[in-house]
Amino acid sequence: MSDHKIEQIRVHRINIPAKAVHSHGSGDVAGIHVAILEMTTDTGITGWGEASPWPVFTGTAEGCAAALHVHLRPHLIGRDPVQVEKHMSMADKIVVGHPEAKAALEMALLDITGQIAGLSVCELVGGRMRDDMGMSFSIANPDFDKDLEDVAAMWADGVRIFKFKTGFADHRFDLMRLEKMREIYGEEADIRIDYNQGLAAYDAVRRVRDLEVFRPTFVEQPVKMHEREVMAHITHVIDAPIMADESVFDPRGALYAANIRMADIFSLKIMKSGGIRRALEVAAIARAAGIEVYGGCMFETGLAHAAGTHLMAAVPDLILQCEFYMSTYYAQDDILTEPFPVRNGRVHVPEGAGLGVRVDPEKLAKYAVADPLN
Ligand SMILES: [Mg+2]
Repeated sequence: MSDHKIEQIRVHRINIPAKAVHSHGSGDVAGIHVAILEMTTDTGITGWGEASPWPVFTGTAEGCAAALHVHLRPHLIGRDPVQVEKHMSMADKIVVGHPEAKAALEMALLDITGQIAGLSVCELVGGRMRDDMGMSFSIANPDFDKDLEDVAAMWADGVRIFKFKTGFADHRFDLMRLEKMREIYGEEADIRIDYNQGLAAYDAVRRVRDLEVFRPTFVEQPVKMHEREVMAHITHVIDAPIMADESVFDPRGALYAANIRMADIFSLKIMKSGGIRRALEVAAIARAAGIEVYGGCMFETGLAHAAGTHLMAAVPDLILQCEFYMSTYYAQDDILTEPFPVRNGRVHVPEGAGLGVRVDPEKLAKYAVADPLN
């Protein structure tokens, strides 16, 4: 029991435009449309959380704002913020799905708990295994020449990991881009491929095989999220490691995927699992099954990125690094008071109590798409 009580909960809905449209096997995205949770205690501590949905993948910002404001808020006001699992179990009982809203709730609770305890969020959930990790940037601009300019600038910044979004245009376009990338940057580039469910199951193996000659570190989510047995088949016959993203959301999904060896790697995302602690449960299942994990993100501000870095800082082993690039290289602006820490191609886990980052209220007002829900 702590001496603190949740006094106020406010939900902001914002939209930050992107520098360029990004295309994926599941559609185009031109901005970061998220719900931000501001939770204040009667002792004057503020915790921040973010729900970053993708409508073709998880849910909507409008739905998350309603889940938080209408359905969860009445069960939180007056309660002790440090009883995190109690509140998360309540959330699972009250609202089905909405993992991004639950991620936002857990983020704000852990941010407050960390400030009370004087510990960072990664320390609250197990400890800091690393202070920084390699950052992957996604090549997803339909104008490939523009992407090449961006890659050149990032290469100079020390970025070496690039994930090609494939399957949104012609197969030959994908082959051409990968060939060009290897031609320019050779073996020093760590190239990954993400289909975002873009291939038809009947000829997915043949197309993935065509791309294997470019030696991708992994091939992510070639087919539809519900085609889990097709994923398992592709994993079985293709030499390159296959990663499940859309097909694995939470511990239950991870258990099924591990049992049928659906993939060699799981992409961990707090927006899929419903928070950092559930994502660590997914990581534990993966570890027991000999499956690697990767730090994925949605279309997020630096706030959700910070939470993602705390998750990935607490994972025991991390070979494949992470992709928290949105606030630095994709969005036109961020909502944090200090830039999200990316240096020399590496993401740095914020120091300090709680999430270790603070939100600028003026930025929330600037990018608001609706009045805050109080
Ligand atoms: Mg993905």
